Amino acid sequence: MTDWLGLAADDPFGISTLPYGVVLIDGQPQPAVRIGGSALLLRPAVQALLPEHADLFAGPNLDAFLAAGPDSWLDVRTAVTTWLIDETYRGQLEPLLRPLAGLPTVLPFSVADYVDFYASENHARNVGRIFRPDAESLLPNWKHLPVGYHGRAGTVVVSGTEVRRPLGQRQAGDGVEFGPSQRLDIEAEVGFVVGPGSSQGQPVPIADFDRHVFGVVLLNDWSARDIQAWEYVPLGPFLGKSFATSISAWITPLAALQTARVPAVPRDPAPLPYLDDTGDSWNLDLSIEVRLNGELISRPPFATMYWTAAQMMAHMTVNGASLRPGDLYGSGTVSGPEPDQLGSLLELSWGGSRPFALADGSQRSYLSDGDEIVMTATAPGPDGARIGISEVRGRIVPALDGPA
Ligand code: CA
Repeated sequence: MTDWLGLAADDPFGISTLPYGVVLIDGQPQPAVRIGGSALLLRPAVQALLPEHADLFAGPNLDAFLAAGPDSWLDVRTAVTTWLIDETYRGQLEPLLRPLAGLPTVLPFSVADYVDFYASENHARNVGRIFRPDAESLLPNWKHLPVGYHGRAGTVVVSGTEVRRPLGQRQAGDGVEFGPSQRLDIEAEVGFVVGPGSSQGQPVPIADFDRHVFGVVLLNDWSARDIQAWEYVPLGPFLGKSFATSISAWITPLAALQTARVPAVPRDPAPLPYLDDTGDSWNLDLSIEVRLNGELISRPPFATMYWTAAQMMAHMTVNGASLRPGDLYGSGTVSGPEPDQLGSLLELSWGGSRPFALADGSQRSYLSDGDEIVMTATAPGPDGARIGISEVRGRIVPALDGPA
């Protein structure tokens, strides 16, 4: 398939990718689809060429499109693909393309509930070894269920948003201190965006994963380790996580990731029946890269995750909790088995005990003010193509002067 834009065959945002986002045109939000280095404005395109779906892009975001479900998703993707390949449409669509450079993007959907999992065995074991060196690194529940917690939907921000260093309490000897976090960290994750909701009381099986989940984003679950370590007992993460969670501006549809599906990793013990994904694995071969101030610091391999997003969805609803359009759930930090595949600075610096050097000669255990983190990813596409997952970018700005 060749598009009339003349994109290179190896462009990660070629005709096989087509992620959706929202751009600002003269200050007004407009749904768009990304093709190469351009955004195609969907509202006028769909009004003219696919009018039966015009309602899906009439609003300021992707909410109506996400909620419309897989038949509508397929209709739109099929149409957009045709428009960008068939020269017949070129004259009509070229005026609706905008260069991405300098084009502001906003959060592409209204985040409903936000859940964060902990599905990488390498990450969970590393955290166990760092915090509980004398105990078994995995807790007894870990291989029986995807561990997770409910996070704060209202502080999910779009890629490019600055992140202010949070203030909070931390343990200091026998007492407590208050001030800017001194152990501000990243977590390289993949986020899953839910379209159609489900009925309360009705578990959603693994087989229905792609009828509910629309697509993926990269997600940076910024984490203040000192605040987290003091507050998390016994109820889990709270203010150490809730100050900001960054996601890609563009959602890559699952439809673009069919060639990235790979077998699940071996599991022992066998999961309970509602978590059994034999023959229907949604493990995804995403190669993530994490850069700090432009320097590559890690390459976490998503295909090493123990639990898949489909199992997370099944677990999240097995008690009867419902899904809502716009729900977002994160995979948990993605860490591979190798030292250059770790998805957090906590692991890269081994709890701060092994600071690592950057090319400019400076050292890091955790983030400094002014540091910028960019996460990108690619996946195998059809016919040797690469599918790009849009970047998530964020820069740390200094803490406010807080109350003492
Ligand atoms: Ca996390």
